[in-house]
Amino acid sequence: MAVIDGKKIAAEIRTELKAEVEELTGEGRAPGLSVIMVGQDSASRTYVNMKKKVAKNLGIKSDVYVMEEDIPEAELFDLIDNLNNDKTVDGILVQLPLPDHINPDQVIETVEPDKDVDGFHPLNSGRLFNGQKEGLRFEPCTPLGIMELIERHTEIDGARAVVVGRSNIVGKPVFKLLLDQNATVTICHSHTKDLEAETLKGDILVVAAGYPRLVNGDMVKEGATVIDVGVNRVNGELVGDVDFESAKKKAAYITPVPGGVGPMTITMLMKNTIKARRYHGA
Ligand code: NDP
Repeated sequence: MAVIDGKKIAAEIRTELKAEVEELTGEGRAPGLSVIMVGQDSASRTYVNMKKKVAKNLGIKSDVYVMEEDIPEAELFDLIDNLNNDKTVDGILVQLPLPDHINPDQVIETVEPDKDVDGFHPLNSGRLFNGQKEGLRFEPCTPLGIMELIERHTEIDGARAVVVGRSNIVGKPVFKLLLDQNATVTICHSHTKDLEAETLKGDILVVAAGYPRLVNGDMVKEGATVIDVGVNRVNGELVGDVDFESAKKKAAYITPVPGGVGPMTITMLMKNTIKARRYHGA
């Protein structure tokens, strides 16, 4: 068994990205990323700060807009419109979750698709699901990071892959990205009758359920590559959706929590921002 070191892989990719940012900056303009946060949710604040820090380290120009929890929706849309029209901004990210009075779908659709570095806009998800390869297409960051980790450790073509979770942010795009690389993919969810029977078939097992230690070693196929996307706080401790100790006895490769998928997500956000800058030009 080997532990997949997401931190190390993310650091390697960031070194490459830094060189790309230097090149683009030399051509006349650094990539620009604007992050909008509404309210003071502490987890969101941590994520936003991490994104800002990584962007700064790479030389990406980043602005963070923190708005009051009770901001009228129209004000948020005005800010997004301004950023849509700002030629120094390549990527716009609205940190989720949003307060109840704001419709997240409408917010996502307000961001220009060519600045949608989160890959959540229906045009981008539509292009992903239609398999459109021409033109610009952003894929969501966590699924992109998951694919990097899998590709570096196992052959995807022809493998049986099982994804637990069907959210628009993780499960569904991972399903499509694995399918595009010729895996035979099963997607499981809360109505799946016999989860263990399904997960045991996975040469590749991606778990994104948001349920602490949902998958244990008995549910993992011998020699599988296991990607644990879950981030759960249990008695102050950060735990994944996979019971690491029992699963590592069966897996050939497994990601830890923390230090697996998390660092990859932010790295892919930077990669998408650079892609947007290349598209927009200097
Ligand atoms: P959602 O809550 O949106 O989706 C969870 C999915 O898991 C749903 O499809 C749900 O099924 C399914 N599910 C829940 N419980 C079970 C169960 N007991 N058996 C089978 N399926 C189940 O979560 P997200 O996809 O947004 O996130 C998943 C996890 O990944 C969370 O812990 C989140 O914090 C983490 N995450 C980590 C990131 C990172 O960068 N490391 C980034 C994004 C998320 P149904 O559809 O039927 O309700």
